[in-house]
Amino acid sequence: MSRIVILGGGESGTGAAVLAKQQGHDVFLSDTGTLRPRHRERLVAHGIDFEEGGPHTMSLLLSADEVVKSPGIPEDAPAVQALRERGIPIISEIELAGRYTRAKTVCITGSNGKTTTTSLIYHMMQKAGLNVGLAGNIGESFAYQVATASYDYYVLELSSFQLDGVFEFKPDIAILLNITPDHLDRYDHQMQLYADSKFRIARNLKADDCFIFCSDDAVTVAQLKKIVLRAQQLPFSQRIRKGQAAWLEPDCHTMVLGYLRQHLEIPIDKLSLKGKHNIYNSMAAGIAGQLLNIHNGVIREALADFKGVEHRLEYVLTIRDVHYINDSKATNVNSAWYALESMTAPVVWIVGGTDKGNDYSELLDLVRQKVKAIVCMGADNSKIHTAFGHLGLPMFDTTSAREAVQRCYALAEPGDVVLLSPCCASFDLFENYEDRGRQFKEAVRAL
Ligand code: ADP
Repeated sequence: MSRIVILGGGESGTGAAVLAKQQGHDVFLSDTGTLRPRHRERLVAHGIDFEEGGPHTMSLLLSADEVVKSPGIPEDAPAVQALRERGIPIISEIELAGRYTRAKTVCITGSNGKTTTTSLIYHMMQKAGLNVGLAGNIGESFAYQVATASYDYYVLELSSFQLDGVFEFKPDIAILLNITPDHLDRYDHQMQLYADSKFRIARNLKADDCFIFCSDDAVTVAQLKKIVLRAQQLPFSQRIRKGQAAWLEPDCHTMVLGYLRQHLEIPIDKLSLKGKHNIYNSMAAGIAGQLLNIHNGVIREALADFKGVEHRLEYVLTIRDVHYINDSKATNVNSAWYALESMTAPVVWIVGGTDKGNDYSELLDLVRQKVKAIVCMGADNSKIHTAFGHLGLPMFDTTSAREAVQRCYALAEPGDVVLLSPCCASFDLFENYEDRGRQFKEAVRAL
């Protein structure tokens, strides 16, 4: 038995506490904020000691043999620094949970597309009749499920913050979708540190494990040249074909999964998820499916009938022949780039929120081509005006979803698209991106 202290009492923290307790450890959980009722009840039900809503009791923290830190707590938090000074090991909930399960894991990371691809693979595996759990950043935590369920497989969405606390944990199939700037504030504004963090998904892979990655992603490819990777490499690309596990035919209308001798060809218009970025996601999911020996017919069906995930290029309604699309989860430049890229009609674009140090210049070409009006939705829209003001497009400032949607309604003509793809975090006006997306949809329905 060792003493395990959990920092943070959210989904992952309470899950870790339950699992550690079940495994016979002495467990203490500490959160400086207020716990959600369901998390508090869970701790009480399992007889776990905890404190909340005040400063950490440092003596209780420093007596730990090991600490499980929630991904939301940054490295420079004073409690984390104090633990580091004492040399107390700090791990993530994923590391802890990985110790107590023999299930095979398919792990997905990347700057964008994690939730979409994770959910798609889960859908495919369920369709194939596998006994599979879905965890990581989605739903119930990995640790809680390891404590309370018995799956043969897990599909895990892993953020870089979770990967930072991974040391021995080893996926069976690791997927790295892409590496583009995001969360750099947590990585000393150094892209290399962020890339290193993403590559932790591959650090323990052995020769018979698999690493699926995008060979069109420059940062990924550069990093692969710097490291030693023992795993089998399965690249996918929309530009090249040679040596790829999945590729696009030169006519750009057909995607091919070529890992198995029996290739699977799928017309792009049969994929349920639209847009160039989703071709990548579908490729990654398809390769994973073939590696898992899922029948080609099932893979094809899963890629065709997947329902998509809320707030990711989610179709809402058509009013007066104007389509309304909710892409509230586009909280960085790259994801908004793909949203605009996939639009085939003139766009009235809702953009703005809490800026994470965005460089909007990458969007200029697409905005010129696709956007007919910009509706800013944020407490401070000055950076957006600076970035796009010179294009001469109609631009408006709004401070609520309702106001933004009404403005769009007045601007859009039949055949146009109203797209919420804000490029920014939501915390200036909303609780989170889900709240922003829901308020947008409510405002659309109220038109
Ligand atoms: P994550 O979980 O990594 O944040 P999501 O699947 O939630 O990713 O999607 C976040 C945003 O990124 C959405 O706006 C979505 O349309 C966009 N997106 C999805 N897949 C990709 C991709 N492969 N590349 C770039 N953007 C993507």
